[in-house]
Amino acid sequence: MNPTGPSNFVRDIVIEDLKTNKYGGRVHTRFPPEPNGYLHIGHAKSINLNFGLAAEFGGKCNLRFDDTNPCKEETEYVDSIIKDVRWLGGDWEDRLFYASDYFDQLHAWAVQLIKAGNAYVCDLTADQIREYRGTLTEPGKESPWRYRPVEESLDLFERMRTGEFPDGSRTLRAKIDMASKNLNMRDPVMYRILHADHHRTGDKWRIYPMYDFTHGQCDSIEGVTHSICTLEFEDHRPLYDWYLEQLGIYHPQQIEFDRLNLTYTLLSKRKLLTLVENGHVRGWDDPRMPTISGIRRRGYTPEAVRNFCNSLGVSKTNGTNELAMLEHFVREDLNKRTPRVMAVLRPLRVVIDNYPADQVEEMEAVNNPEDAGMGTRKVPFSRVLYIEQDDFRESPPKQFYRLSPGREVRLRYGYFIACTSVVKDEKGEVVEVHCTYDPATRGGNAPDGRKVKSTIHWVSAAQAVDAEVRLYDNLFTLEDPNQTSDGQDFTSNLNPRSLEVLTGCKLEPSLLDAAEGSRYQFERLGYFCVDPDATPGQPVFNRTVALRDTWARIEKAQRGGQ
Ligand code: ATP
Ligand code: MG
Repeated sequence: MNPTGPSNFVRDIVIEDLKTNKYGGRVHTRFPPEPNGYLHIGHAKSINLNFGLAAEFGGKCNLRFDDTNPCKEETEYVDSIIKDVRWLGGDWEDRLFYASDYFDQLHAWAVQLIKAGNAYVCDLTADQIREYRGTLTEPGKESPWRYRPVEESLDLFERMRTGEFPDGSRTLRAKIDMASKNLNMRDPVMYRILHADHHRTGDKWRIYPMYDFTHGQCDSIEGVTHSICTLEFEDHRPLYDWYLEQLGIYHPQQIEFDRLNLTYTLLSKRKLLTLVENGHVRGWDDPRMPTISGIRRRGYTPEAVRNFCNSLGVSKTNGTNELAMLEHFVREDLNKRTPRVMAVLRPLRVVIDNYPADQVEEMEAVNNPEDAGMGTRKVPFSRVLYIEQDDFRESPPKQFYRLSPGREVRLRYGYFIACTSVVKDEKGEVVEVHCTYDPATRGGNAPDGRKVKSTIHWVSAAQAVDAEVRLYDNLFTLEDPNQTSDGQDFTSNLNPRSLEVLTGCKLEPSLLDAAEGSRYQFERLGYFCVDPDATPGQPVFNRTVALRDTWARIEKAQRGGQ
């Protein structure tokens, strides 16, 4: 045992159970996704908790697909989930299971409950069942079929199985208590008729078990000790316990914790599917999506996601965490691991008039100031460069210390340059800046000790690599995207500026053949990674996350102060 994980109440229960030897010293968890969509960052919290506890206490964690609804489930989702859990570091060894693996056993258990008088076939329709169920303040009404003979239920259940009856005409229900305070205990449906083919069992079954009749029994079969799920299942726990008790089989314990919610983000597979189907995003892996495949494409690392998850509390009350906090962990991790490079996103041509026209110097640049082991590289410097349009102002406002007429700045790894004049187009926009450089300042310092207030990045024009760069902003404009006015749905809160595509960006030549998925810090701009859309010689980068921009903050403060 190597207790190193973040402390929380679920972990405390596990530690206590180990102390009392409740499960013979075993810790066995599972992550049970329904393959009806792609995993999102909320699932990462559950994956981190389940696989994390198993790893910490020398236990096991299974990956189990909860595939009881053949209508919404697809192998595309199964494949993506396997890839995503693995990417996050989840290791289920050889324990990849499907609830559908247990359909025969579940069916046998259903028959056992019928025989024991604890389940019956009910002929009420779905609407009638709802009507009979009662409300939180009123008890339910017993189904007229509740006391039909066991033999009759057995016969009907068998005929349901073989497909004799149409969808929705009958159900198998547990006989529990129509007056229970807990609505889940008012004779819940165990099986429904569905003439639908299943992604694994094909047309073998015409009845499918409900989640509640499936989950606990699967946990039991797999020897799970701690069945950790989210708070909405708290009210289902009595039913989880009831089935296991009635069947007299090994009984794991269900423990509920709070779901992850994030500001400016929706974490619901159903709503994410709407975004995909209606073309609001490019797909499940659009880098603006909070899906695991989306954030992977965007350049997030599994380590950053794990650190974020570890920093979250695990509690009994749902709350909302800041998206900025996730971004903080992404920056923190990328800061350590990414090489620095220079790239100019919105280029402005700079001509250094006193620099020899045919000269190219190789300047030595540090790959990562946080990690000397990452070494240095050569960056070409020549007479014509690009700098960011934002790094030049013809009439600089107060506190703007970058390049402007008469002002001297330092070019990173280069020289001091001073602006002498500008060239404008017919609209009066500055299209070229002329400068002179001081040859004595190579490497960034002046022998006479004179100071400059700003260091800016640049790319040499002749060697620059042209690239497309995609900038992302929050997908929604509201902290709570579900907050909508009358008649509108959450898509009305989509941010029209969540994607900005820049073309003709100028990169230093070392980036020409950057591999798909590789990550960099573009100095002063943020963290970027190579998108799969890149082709040889034509890089496409995604901005993973911006650096904190002090100038933007000053400008914002000034605007606010006016
Ligand atoms: P969604 O509401 O997004 O459709 P779900 O709960 O239906 O999610 P499942 O595939 O059933 O998705 O979830 C698998 C596991 O992940 C469950 O144990 C569930 O409790 C957990 N989980 C899902 N969403 C979150 C979340 N936002 N935070 C923490 N755990 C989550
Ligand atoms: Mg679900």
